[in-house]
Amino acid sequence: MGFTLCYNNSMEEVKAAVVKFTKDRDWDQFHSPANLAKSIAIESGELLECFQWDDDFDKERVCDELADVVNYAILLADKLDVSLEDIIMKKLEENSRKYPVGKSKGNSKKYTEL
Ligand SMILES: [Mg+2]
Repeated sequence: MGFTLCYNNSMEEVKAAVVKFTKDRDWDQFHSPANLAKSIAIESGELLECFQWDDDFDKERVCDELADVVNYAILLADKLDVSLEDIIMKKLEENSRKYPVGKSKGNSKKYTEL
């Protein structure tokens, strides 16, 4: 289950590398928002496939698929000209209001049922 990762890049460097990878290959022409959203769903399916038959999983394979999901998320945020960090923080603020610690701690119910 162990594999070694030795990168230590900032999120800004990672985003720049993902965008450059695409630009260098002239793949941006294929990356409509709809195609990127579909790609996120497809890669999410591949991530789920890692756990299809039991909970015993290959961590390296899971990380590969997780990286695919996040790569497409980075590209979609770039395509929409929004900061991924900003939209994550905005959503976290919204979720903090929906799921106040006092009501949701240790509870998996949806906010509409709290
Ligand atoms: Mg994949």
